[in-house]
Amino acid sequence: MMRFCDVVVDLSAEAVDRTYTYAVPEGMELELGWQVEIPFGPRKLEGFVVDIRESCDLPPEKVKNVLRTVRDSAVILPDQLSLARWMHERYLCNFVDALRLMIPAQMRGERVRPRYRRYASLAAARDEVLSYIEKNPRAVQQHFVLKRLMEGDQDTASLPSGPLKALEKRGLIRIHAEEEMRKPADLRLDERSEDPVLTPAQAAAVSELTEALERGGDRYLLKGVTGSGKTEVYIRLIRSVLSKGRSAIVLVPEIALTPQMVRWLHARFGADAAVLHSGLSAGERFDEWRRIRFGDARVVIGARSAVFAPLENIGAIVVDEEHEASYISDQRPRYDTREVALYRAEQSGAVLLLGSATPSLSSFMRAMPGVRPENRLKLIELNERVLGRKLPDVDLVDMRGEFEKGNHGIFSAKLARALKQCYADKRQSILFINRRGYSTFVSCRSCGKAVKCDECDVTMTYHQVGERLRCHYCGRERPVPRVCPACGSRYIRFFGAGTQKVEEAVRALLPEARLIRMDMDTTQGKDAHGRLLEEFRSGRADIMIGTQMIAKGLDFPEVTLVGVVAADTMLNLPDYRSAERTFQLITQVAGRAGRAEHPGRVIVQSYEPEHYAIQLAAKQDYRAFYTREIAVRKSSLYPPYTVIMRTVYSGSSAETVRETAEKDAESLRIWLEENGHWKNIVQMRALAAPIGLLRGKTRWQIFLKMYFKGDREGILKQMLRLADGAPVQVRAEVEVNPVNMV
Ligand code: ADP
Ligand code: ZN
Ligand code: ZN
Repeated sequence: MMRFCDVVVDLSAEAVDRTYTYAVPEGMELELGWQVEIPFGPRKLEGFVVDIRESCDLPPEKVKNVLRTVRDSAVILPDQLSLARWMHERYLCNFVDALRLMIPAQMRGERVRPRYRRYASLAAARDEVLSYIEKNPRAVQQHFVLKRLMEGDQDTASLPSGPLKALEKRGLIRIHAEEEMRKPADLRLDERSEDPVLTPAQAAAVSELTEALERGGDRYLLKGVTGSGKTEVYIRLIRSVLSKGRSAIVLVPEIALTPQMVRWLHARFGADAAVLHSGLSAGERFDEWRRIRFGDARVVIGARSAVFAPLENIGAIVVDEEHEASYISDQRPRYDTREVALYRAEQSGAVLLLGSATPSLSSFMRAMPGVRPENRLKLIELNERVLGRKLPDVDLVDMRGEFEKGNHGIFSAKLARALKQCYADKRQSILFINRRGYSTFVSCRSCGKAVKCDECDVTMTYHQVGERLRCHYCGRERPVPRVCPACGSRYIRFFGAGTQKVEEAVRALLPEARLIRMDMDTTQGKDAHGRLLEEFRSGRADIMIGTQMIAKGLDFPEVTLVGVVAADTMLNLPDYRSAERTFQLITQVAGRAGRAEHPGRVIVQSYEPEHYAIQLAAKQDYRAFYTREIAVRKSSLYPPYTVIMRTVYSGSSAETVRETAEKDAESLRIWLEENGHWKNIVQMRALAAPIGLLRGKTRWQIFLKMYFKGDREGILKQMLRLADGAPVQVRAEVEVNPVNMV
């Protein structure tokens, strides 16, 4: 019987974003999800088989044959095919771009191959070998080889090659290749650890989750204070998943966090654990992918792309630190990892578990009463640290007071004293510097206020070009003021200090202390993150200075002091999420202190300590913060009550870029009105993008805010249509709830 297949070609272009039908030649083995080579116009291309049928509507002479299969098994599993289809519709990306997420990039075009080792073994009977040795007394090297092989098979790399060849020729030995899997560094350690006794709160959480697993899956938000042992809950859930013959995915926000999670899970699940993230070499990734694909590893740990792991029969998907912005992809396809995780969990009747000490406002809102069933998350809380440990005490230091007392340095007197004391006590400390928001705004050293827009109440951003301040939301501009608009002080200047400056300050304070600096510069190399963290954990350094990458999820038992050098840099970012991010960050950083027997202390330096985000973070009172912030979002119509969409136009000709954005905004307005969407739109206009010039390209945007109930997909489609129609000199990108409004 004739067979036909539908193929998605491996070319990312709107014009070929459809399926093409080919005939399967007689006798060719081919199944759904296989990678094939096909004739495409004058070219030969690779593609993915997304459907197989026994009939075809096209006239037979129009249908060409599949040329060959690239791999002799499915590279895309049926569940992954449906996932890609769903992403194609949900995010309006090219089908092939969704498919490409499912396999390591190197598997396209066959650029990586398995690695083989060659082994030698005896091919003749022992007597025959012994008599050969006797008859050739002078072939000492051959004797050596034969004697080794009589002890067992040997890696050819450990034996002289001339004699090996000679012996193989005589038929006395045989050489064969065996595949060797490349192992990521995090999985090479050989640690084993035992299950601790669960605390009552952990035990209750685990039993609720395992019941949900029995029931055929459900979705949960696990809100647990820092050090409450959330990871142990994940581990026990996964243990019951495995005992049912199913598999699990554990997602962590950034690759900086993977080494620790991988070590923990590896210590508990051994060879069943696999990792997938961008820090692996191409070969390692290829081999890990295959270990997962063929069922040798059933627990996958990784950053956001691990949500696409080639697993079957998934029983649980954990999203750790679910509030992190890195779960939203900033490249095409722009997907939200939590949505993808939910889709996969429902697809296979799994438990979805979002965990955090500081859940995103939108997730926590979904766990509150009054939410529609299809959006609902069940809430489990762990309100205490394990083993009766206390949350650390947080001291807020008002840096305006320090300034008045004549201390113009980076550290307040209190933090300097605490650092010295901690060092004298032979304990470790962490100094946290917020890199984001550094030097982008102007604030007053006397009253702490940053210069804000009169119209929008957001901090204005400093633009070097023309030395002006500009509002990202309305486009209003003003020159940098000489004196503070709020208090009249002349001490008005750029904010922030980088990691290097802090390092210098620590050296001046404690010349003997051993320091580790973790920032973009020091973590470039492969495995560099893991190495630095390990160095600190093992006690080879006293003080760690770092950015965002050390803020969350890390467990350092010997750390008793955490200093936040400047808490408010982020507060002043022109972004409606700045209070939420500030609260999360301080709470998370504070949570690194006092995780073992020794109590911890946290010192937070701030120029605006009266701000509710900082006050409530110091109290580590999530609920109070949630209540306050969600009210702000509601009254000012920001997500999760609304959805923000925008199209960013960029190009070399400022004129064309602006004209295109304005023209598109006008035709979008007409379209919205004619199609009855206008009532759901809060705001829609064309304006210069926050960063108006980027790498020589002018940037404009259509900014659109609509009520949550609006037709997100319909409007998005129209914006994409307009973007596609932009002139060739203008690049247009559409984003939904962009992570960074740049
Ligand atoms: P969280 O992610 O909630 O901040 P972790 O999962 O990092 O907390 O756990 C904090 C520390 O407590 C870890 O060192 C972990 O090994 C330990 N821990 C977790 N559960 C228990 C338990 N039941 N008994 C003893 N120690 C535990
Ligand atoms: Zn002032
Ligand atoms: Zn404004």
